[in-house]
Amino acid sequence: MPIPFIDLQAQRARLGQPLEDAILKVVRSGAYIMGPEIAQFEKALGEFGEAPFVLSCGSGTEALQLPLMAWGVGPGDAVFCPSFTFAATAEVMPLVGASPVFVDVLPDTFNLDPAKLDAAIAAVKAEGKLTPKAVIAVDLFGQPADYPAISAVAKKHGLKLIADSAQGFGCTLHGRHPIHWADVTTTSFFPAKPLGCYGDGGAVLSKDAGFHDLLVSLRVHGQAVKSDIEGRTFDHDPKYLNMRIGMNSRMDTIQAAVLLQKLTIFADEIAARNVVADRYAAGLGDVVGAPKVIEGGVSVWAQYTIETKDRDGLIGHLREAGVPTAVYYPIPIHKQGVYSGYPTPGGLPVTEAKAETVMSLPMHPYLTTDAQDQVIAAIRSYVKRNG
Ligand SMILES: *Cc1c(COP(=O)(O)O)cnc(C)c1O
Repeated sequence: MPIPFIDLQAQRARLGQPLEDAILKVVRSGAYIMGPEIAQFEKALGEFGEAPFVLSCGSGTEALQLPLMAWGVGPGDAVFCPSFTFAATAEVMPLVGASPVFVDVLPDTFNLDPAKLDAAIAAVKAEGKLTPKAVIAVDLFGQPADYPAISAVAKKHGLKLIADSAQGFGCTLHGRHPIHWADVTTTSFFPAKPLGCYGDGGAVLSKDAGFHDLLVSLRVHGQAVKSDIEGRTFDHDPKYLNMRIGMNSRMDTIQAAVLLQKLTIFADEIAARNVVADRYAAGLGDVVGAPKVIEGGVSVWAQYTIETKDRDGLIGHLREAGVPTAVYYPIPIHKQGVYSGYPTPGGLPVTEAKAETVMSLPMHPYLTTDAQDQVIAAIRSYVKRNG
């Protein structure tokens, strides 16, 4: 039997009838949009992620775009982010008219380098063309970025900080979630993410009631929220009073129902992913570059990403052995045509080198020890044969 890269069916089987009942309940209720499960899920997610406010939304991409809109980030503004990430991290800047500024990552964790971030902000300020407004740190492959250092840099320069935790939701650093340091944490519920639904979805976690209200308005076409209409009276439904330019970024009620079920086993799944990661490290640490987690950090292991100079050879060998692999990411964002015009102060040598050597192995909470041993044995035999 081929080894799956991720195994959503094993998870579905574990959740069983209650999951299907929860979906059917929404179908029968008719409350397909903003049904009661939405608020229930937002509350449950906030409890899990230790955030006072949660806004569910249409995708992880829109979860990044909404806070930029709420802060009024636009033309002439700079938002700093890594280039070694999924395109969505950088895509939301042009979507609001702003410019991404790409910053290099640390060689051991693949996450934003705080010293290079500081230097890049200083360089953009000195040049005087763009106004620095925010930083987006990414919890790449599931592990937390260096938030204490990154938030200190952001504060020093007066910038907002977003934790793009699409791959890392549930990760912690010294026992705290990224929102402890960031102004906003965003995540994605794309099915393959550690906490995924059965379609598209996302969330914005935040700490300020007024800011959250603004997101509530922006999520549904800039509709009037409580603070907009206080002390005013209307002849019409205030729902059709549009106070600002927003968008449509609602998450489906069915997805909230699915996520409420998945959240009940999420902590257990994170523990299981860490068992798998520890076994990989023990079995492979001496033959390939095994991933390192920041000190005090707990990864949710969206990916188990190793490094090897002979990537193509190893991928081919594993394919023959029935072991699927993937490369995240073969082309750094700043090297993609449409992003090549944006600033890269100081260059991104680490990012460019990593793009040549990284490859990800099967990783999910239901990977059996037998299947994992097969992966480990196949890698060991290749490395032994080819030096
Ligand atoms: C998946 C992902 C996103 C985008 O999420 P979608 O729900 O697919 O829009 C953003 N940032 C990172 C780092 C991601 O991995």
